[in-house]
Amino acid sequence: MTTIQTRPFDLQIARQETPGTTEVLHLNNAGSALPSQPVLDATITYLQREALLGGYEMAAASQAAIEHTYDAAATLINCSREEIALMENATRAWDMAFYSIPFKPGDRILTSMAEYASNYIAYLQVAHKTGAIVEPIPDDPYGQLSLDALRNAIDDRVKLISITHVPTSGGLVNPIAEIGKIARSAGILYLVDACQSVGQMPIDVQKIGCDLLSTTGRKYLRAPRGTGFLYVRKAVLDQLEPPFLDLHAATWTARESYEMRPDARRFETWEANYANRVGLGAAIDYALQWGMETIWRRIKLLSYQLRSQLSPLPGLIVRDRGITQCGIVTFTIDGKEPEEIQRRLAEQNINVSVGVQNSTLLDLEARGIKTFVRASVHYYNSEEEIARFCSAIENLI
Ligand SMILES: *Cc1c(COP(=O)(O)O)cnc(C)c1O
Repeated sequence: MTTIQTRPFDLQIARQETPGTTEVLHLNNAGSALPSQPVLDATITYLQREALLGGYEMAAASQAAIEHTYDAAATLINCSREEIALMENATRAWDMAFYSIPFKPGDRILTSMAEYASNYIAYLQVAHKTGAIVEPIPDDPYGQLSLDALRNAIDDRVKLISITHVPTSGGLVNPIAEIGKIARSAGILYLVDACQSVGQMPIDVQKIGCDLLSTTGRKYLRAPRGTGFLYVRKAVLDQLEPPFLDLHAATWTARESYEMRPDARRFETWEANYANRVGLGAAIDYALQWGMETIWRRIKLLSYQLRSQLSPLPGLIVRDRGITQCGIVTFTIDGKEPEEIQRRLAEQNINVSVGVQNSTLLDLEARGIKTFVRASVHYYNSEEEIARFCSAIENLI
């Protein structure tokens, strides 16, 4: 665990320390957020020194900085450093966890309606190969996973509860701690895709009660691209053999045998992008010094302002669901293609993304939405930017 000196939130400083804020009005934070200057410095300095010293020599000289990233990640989500594996993205982190679970024919996988396409493709592949069954739990009237429906679905054939916390397709925040209570009391393995929530809101794996949790660096954590991490609860580690092992994940102990590492790094590979890993550590430190509660409060405030300024515009429908709504704001405008909106905004240096149905097929099909605009805010966005964005949309209409 690390102790980070916190400082009171100051928007002007946060923007000064984010070089991209002078170039673009960035509302694509759920795609890839703008990195802070300390993250840029840590990453670039590492790369430059690596070029001068040699890759192995630089890694040896930077052990403390490299190892610090494990401590930072553990502090961020409240676990021990032995429970963290650093990965190249959230998908591989999630895959390494999911594909290590031994499924038998008839095993049930309970999941959510707003599940990410990559996860669902993996469920289908494993279901086809092993005879396990994938079952999306229906939503409640607010659009969250229905806790009652989940409770009713539990029996002794449920092998895994696997839930996306915040989907890529909107402001929804699934009740993962309540789901965790159900998983715990039934003794069922629980995997959380926290790709859009880590860095956006406080995440505490003890409170969530999950066994496995994956996330990426480049989204709300503002880390370099090509980074992510996996949390594996110590108590389940020995039940899980990663689908791939190398000489870092295991040791070749004799002609016919090998031994896996005793910690979560059995999910890693030997080779890694150390400059990016150090950048990830710097990004987590940077988030912790503002404090996750402060970040989350500000993101909720800005997204509330954005939704309430957008909704009165003619023909515009805000599409977000859920009781608590996060920084991901989605909308459609009658008679306007989201791609055209994105292009017209880009001409004004405003970044948004376009969501498509098959990224979260079950949810968007049920709601009859084919494509939509996604404007995702971060704490470094200003109130003035929100107003400027809304008048750009108004002009477009
Ligand atoms: C972006 C995203 C992922 C994939 O993350 P990568 O870092 O691109 O692998 C997984 N789940 C959700 C909900 C996402 O939004």
